[in-house]
Amino acid sequence: MFNPTNIIFRSRWFFMLLIAVIFISGIALTIYVYSFVNQTNLGALSRGAQTIASSIDASEVANLKGTEEDLENPSYLTLKSKLKKIQSVEKDVRFVYLTGQTEAGGIFFYVDSEDPLSADYSPPGQTYEEADQSFVDAFATGKPNITGPTSDRWGTWITALAPIVDPETNKVVSTVGVDIDASGHQRYVLTNTMIPALITLLLLALAIIGQRISRHEQQMVELKSEFVSIASHELRSPLNGITWALDNMSKATNLTPPQTNMIAEIKTTASNLMGNINDILNASSVTGNRQTKLMLEEVDIARLLKIVAEQQLLAAKERGVEIVIEKFPIGSNAIKADKEKLKRVFSNILSNSIKYSSSGSSVEIAFQNVGGAYQISFTDHGIGIPTKDQAKIFGGYYRAANAQKSGVTGTGLGLYFAQKIVELHGGKIWLKSDEGQGTTVFVQLPIQKS
Ligand code: ADP
Repeated sequence: MFNPTNIIFRSRWFFMLLIAVIFISGIALTIYVYSFVNQTNLGALSRGAQTIASSIDASEVANLKGTEEDLENPSYLTLKSKLKKIQSVEKDVRFVYLTGQTEAGGIFFYVDSEDPLSADYSPPGQTYEEADQSFVDAFATGKPNITGPTSDRWGTWITALAPIVDPETNKVVSTVGVDIDASGHQRYVLTNTMIPALITLLLLALAIIGQRISRHEQQMVELKSEFVSIASHELRSPLNGITWALDNMSKATNLTPPQTNMIAEIKTTASNLMGNINDILNASSVTGNRQTKLMLEEVDIARLLKIVAEQQLLAAKERGVEIVIEKFPIGSNAIKADKEKLKRVFSNILSNSIKYSSSGSSVEIAFQNVGGAYQISFTDHGIGIPTKDQAKIFGGYYRAANAQKSGVTGTGLGLYFAQKIVELHGGKIWLKSDEGQGTTVFVQLPIQKS
């Protein structure tokens, strides 16, 4: 099965790209959430101030003088009780007040929501010295606005301002001020912003852990491969000697039938052993820190597949399996590739299809042009691969339980080698398999534009 996580985690560039994408989108999302929550909260505050302003009768404010005399004024008392009520139900709101403007442009309080006994109470007419330009603007433009964080003698506030306009004169008679604690607002915004920031950190951590695990697994495979390849080199020469001696022995004319059978069996075992040693050496040639070099030449894929099929005819016959070559594309189908390595890839896959097939079945080799790439497939009707094993069999040194039980020998390195070589050619390899039904292994190789 084509496993994209291997590409992502094992290729340095893919990994860097993944980290960059997570980082940049994480920051963008965090900034977006910050500004969204900030705007939403301030918007709600401003709407609240405007609702209060529209609920206040301008003529009631016009009755006020903006001096301590107002304390006895019924309009003052009505407005005071209204503001107190609003402040008591809005738990985030610290002060609600009405301001006025002197002829000289200074800002003063008409009435506030504080109890007269409170230390924070502002009597009517008290000058609001810390009022900033936004208060002046509210009177000048008649438009609501938001200011802050600004500090005054009572604390640091975000303030929503909403002018009260006299409908008859169209003049701003007062401005409603609604104060919320600036640090409370910041805390609320930051708490909400933490969610995307934490998700980003979590994704970054997962990507880094994934890459570490993948690198560790790869290093294990490399270490094993290095070790086994040294041992395998030492085994190949004596094994060649044994095979040569067996060939000579089988030519003798005075052998009894049991002796002939025995020699044939030893030859099969020696050939299996040679196959395993070759798998190990192939795998070790694509493992390790050194870069695997491809010897590129023009390779006719159809011809190469036919050669590979011919070479496996005998093995197929011995297992009672028929190799069927399906219709291949007409005309030239050459690509630049490493012929020897590609041949070993196709041989490994075909040999799997044959050895994991049951007698009397067939193995189909198909080859087609799928828009910009050659796609080769090897289909068998054998033991299949359990779903849970499919992601692991390209990882090296892995054999599915049903393959081990079947009595067929193997190293678990053939597909590992195949994947490395196919990817070096810029292609991909994957499979579809149903346990007990059969397997199709696909190889896709890009067609280079010359
Ligand atoms: P092996 O030498 O064990 O065949 P490979 O790397 O070629 O090693 O394959 C790895 C494992 O994948 C095999 O051990 C087997 O479990 C499974 N496998 C590969 N090809 C097939 C197939 N055509 N049918 C069933 N199982 C397969």
